[in-house]
Amino acid sequence: MFSKVLIANRGEIALRVIRACRELGIRTVVVHSEADRESLPVRLADETVCIGAASSKESYLNIPAIMSAAEVTDADAIHPGYGFLSEKAEFAEICEQYHITFIGPPPKAIAMMGQKANARTTAKRCGVRVVPGSEGVITDLDELFKIAERIGYPVLIKAVAGGGGKGMRVAHNKNSLRTAYEMAQAEAKAAFGDGGVYLEKYVECAKHVEAQILADRFGNVVFLGERDCSIQRRHQKLLEETPCPILSPKLREEIGKAAVRLAKACGYVNAGTVEFLLDVKARAFYFIEMNTRIQVEHPITEMVTGIDLVKAQIRIAAGERLRFSQHDIVPKGHAIECRINAEDPEEAFRPCPGRVSEYMAPSGLGIRLDSHLYSGYTVPPFYDSLIAKLIVHADTRPQAIARVKRALEEYRVEGIKTTVPFHLQLLSHPQFGEGSYLTSFLEQAFSLNGHAPSRDGRSEPEP
Ligand code: ADP
Repeated sequence: MFSKVLIANRGEIALRVIRACRELGIRTVVVHSEADRESLPVRLADETVCIGAASSKESYLNIPAIMSAAEVTDADAIHPGYGFLSEKAEFAEICEQYHITFIGPPPKAIAMMGQKANARTTAKRCGVRVVPGSEGVITDLDELFKIAERIGYPVLIKAVAGGGGKGMRVAHNKNSLRTAYEMAQAEAKAAFGDGGVYLEKYVECAKHVEAQILADRFGNVVFLGERDCSIQRRHQKLLEETPCPILSPKLREEIGKAAVRLAKACGYVNAGTVEFLLDVKARAFYFIEMNTRIQVEHPITEMVTGIDLVKAQIRIAAGERLRFSQHDIVPKGHAIECRINAEDPEEAFRPCPGRVSEYMAPSGLGIRLDSHLYSGYTVPPFYDSLIAKLIVHADTRPQAIARVKRALEEYRVEGIKTTVPFHLQLLSHPQFGEGSYLTSFLEQAFSLNGHAPSRDGRSEPEP
């Protein structure tokens, strides 16, 4: 086992990794930007190294500074968390060159699955259905129009390097396709430095259902159940639950098998998530992408399986075999996660950084709060706005809903606006209660531009 792990991340996920390391008897080094000096992970780590100015480019994306910190502190391994460098094959390769273990998949697997058009090709090769679309990157307008005509409108332009819902544009006809293509390219170039885009059929009646897998270095791959992440705003997840309320055992088994097949096909090792769109009318699922890292919503899987995914990641990276096989994994009960962001839901989810003047966390049976907040902490304006994940576990879905509402009502974060009130409205919506909601639900049922939704989901103008 490692004796020291460097955590190349910040916020709640840095804290999550510190906790796993501590339970495994591993010392931790947290690298941080100048803006994160007062953060909780920095306070709790065994060692800290300031690696640069506030901007991510100069700190959390600064590979030379991170590698120097790892050398100076004599770290054996680096945990990249999610976002930042977690899906950069180049970073995993540099770690290898420095003889520091990258806690994640091999660089080759990241390269194969990280670029979305390549991942589609891999999926097709191993018999996993993908959303109908282009073979690869589209560089020519004529080709674009031809493929759109063939698969039928509406279509979706997606960035090959995409993430966080960026670089994605829907087009309903030939006229809007050209603009969508150009806008998606420009957005992708600005956000990811790669303007490559491809085309997919836009699946209108879909749920986002993803499969969590774990793979060791000995070829063992297990499926740890699915997560329903269809509650989204601008293609970004706000709430996740497991199990998916409408998934049949047969489809669940098929999704699990497809995810495992794909992981094996790309020589995958460590924790990964295979994302699918579930076409609820056709009762078919299509691969959309693989996330080659731990995900924000991993705790709901931990709650129902009892498996600590971050510890599993560390053990796998240290060369251990998986301690369980597929038949040992029997998810129990229901889990829900609410993403609490420092955003104002009444003002189009505008980011709301600032000082937390008063803080009171919910607790009690079945409640878990993964958060780096404390009273007096200032949320910096430089990074994403996730400040807490409220996770609940209960025997049944209705009990989990009642529990998460109770916890949200207890939660006090004063001084900044948060998504807590929005989650309370969402959880009381009848369509959420039914569990059949689709990825389009939130934007259709709630007016997200400053109007409070009514109980039946129709928006009402503010008084
Ligand atoms: P990102 O990596 O930016 O998160 P994804 O490929 O994971 O992008 O897609 C994010 C979300 O966008 C999905 O969960 C889904 O709601 C929507 N989406 C993606 N592809 C399609 C599609 N072909 N049809 C309909 N919705 C889609």
